Amino acid sequence: MSAALLQALREAVGPAQVLTHEDPAADLAAWEQDWRKRAHGRALAVVRPGSTAEVASVVRACAAAGTSIVPQGGNTGLVVGSVPDESGTQVLLSLTRLNAVRAIDPANLTMTVEAGCVLQTLQDAAEKAGFLLPLSLAAEGSCTIGGNLATNAGGTQVVRYGNARELCLGLEVVTAQGEVWQGLTGLRKDNTGYDLRDLFIGSEGTLGVITAATLKLYPLPAAQLTAWAAVPTLDAAVSLLGLAHQHLGAGLTGFEVMGQFALGLVDRHFPALRVPLWQDSPYCVLLENSDSESEEHARSQFERLLETAFERGLVSDAVVAESLAQARALWHIRESIPLAQAEEGLNIKHDISIPVSRIPAFCAETDALLQREIPGVRLVNFGHLGDGNLHYNVQAPAGADAKKFLNEQEAHVNALVFDTVARYDGSISAEHGVGSLKASHLPHYKDPVALGLMRAIKQALDPQHLMNPGRVLARP
Ligand code: FAD
Ligand code: ZN
Repeated sequence: MSAALLQALREAVGPAQVLTHEDPAADLAAWEQDWRKRAHGRALAVVRPGSTAEVASVVRACAAAGTSIVPQGGNTGLVVGSVPDESGTQVLLSLTRLNAVRAIDPANLTMTVEAGCVLQTLQDAAEKAGFLLPLSLAAEGSCTIGGNLATNAGGTQVVRYGNARELCLGLEVVTAQGEVWQGLTGLRKDNTGYDLRDLFIGSEGTLGVITAATLKLYPLPAAQLTAWAAVPTLDAAVSLLGLAHQHLGAGLTGFEVMGQFALGLVDRHFPALRVPLWQDSPYCVLLENSDSESEEHARSQFERLLETAFERGLVSDAVVAESLAQARALWHIRESIPLAQAEEGLNIKHDISIPVSRIPAFCAETDALLQREIPGVRLVNFGHLGDGNLHYNVQAPAGADAKKFLNEQEAHVNALVFDTVARYDGSISAEHGVGSLKASHLPHYKDPVALGLMRAIKQALDPQHLMNPGRVLARP
């Protein structure tokens, strides 16, 4: 059976684009291992189509053979959703050869691009045309727009521009039956029935394969300024966010929070980065102001905001970057937290969202709960406060064996954190998705009616359960 399927796949995309373990020279590890190295699967084949028509042929061949498909873009996902399982029976469908920018429409403020385009190349293409594509995350040098849409990625500019969903006007999708849905509309208004685009966005490859998308573009800001502020409490950080919304309006394009322990790890493992103002403050905040007028205007707005914040006791100290290089250096510190944390040792990661107003109470309660249950536990708390999204990560007590900690405590810590998240009306996955890692948690934390509707949609669109099975919805 698999010989016939492999033959059909070779006919669909050309023999050079079907890689298997039968070829002793082929090394499939890059496609089979996830970014966090939490899973190493084994694929029947890695298939690399070069066009939408070829994707459709591959899906039809797999559907006829009853073989499941795992779509993959840049393989930077953090929830084990883009690699095959260990059965050796799944086809890994790599989208990276679909990498053309099909069109830029300046008057409509849109660009139409193929799913395998690397995010950073799209940011660059938009900028070359005089526009901003405002999706930005630390993996942008290798993640693909197809993966960004499949996971509804967030990142650092959501507070102003929304997540990937809000930047997408239309999609082209290969269905689980191998048909092509041509939904590449550049319309901002279209009320002709159910929103299929929003169904595929965030579906993590479980309903179909995204092959292209039409994205919104924005004018490039005239100036962009970054400030770093030390705040006395998380409550103060939340009040500062409200004040920043008031003072900067649509200019507020970034608002990140970083806990003292998280910044201390950057200081310890990357001392050359020179983390400012962290030693005397429980939290620091990174703010970005994108201004459509001028740098002077942006600077005076920032000054007024910080003055008011000082007067109200919301900020104890602050620096405003004097140059683009300084601004980049401040963002680099923020983006180095996950790397510093990895240097410190394995840890239990959470990507949660809570209504912004309730974040201080949530953190106080969960911090205390974890300290009581696991004395000495260390909390690497940072994230996109402007979106109510925290990467609330839990590190072993100093000197403890991190691997043992992960093995013994992960389930316990997850339950403590997720139960508190649920009590605060939050979500257990704000931006990374569900994948395999959180699929078993969903039945505990998702509304049962919503879960039933999700299962019905899966059954209707993918009745053979061949599209990325076991991801999002655990296998029955
Ligand atoms: P992959 O990892 O290849 O796939 C992710 C999922 O999408 C899988 O389920 C896969 O099956 C599916 N998929 C991929 N392409 C398609 C397609 N064309 N059609 C259908 N399904 C598809 N995420 C954030 O949201 N915000 C962040 O700030 C952020 N920061 C990160 C920082 C680092 C250093 C790293 C490593 C990751 C970060 N991530 C972040 C997570 C990750 O980068 C994003 O989820 C990204 O959108 C995944 O894109 P990808 O192309 O790598 O997708
Ligand atoms: Zn994030």
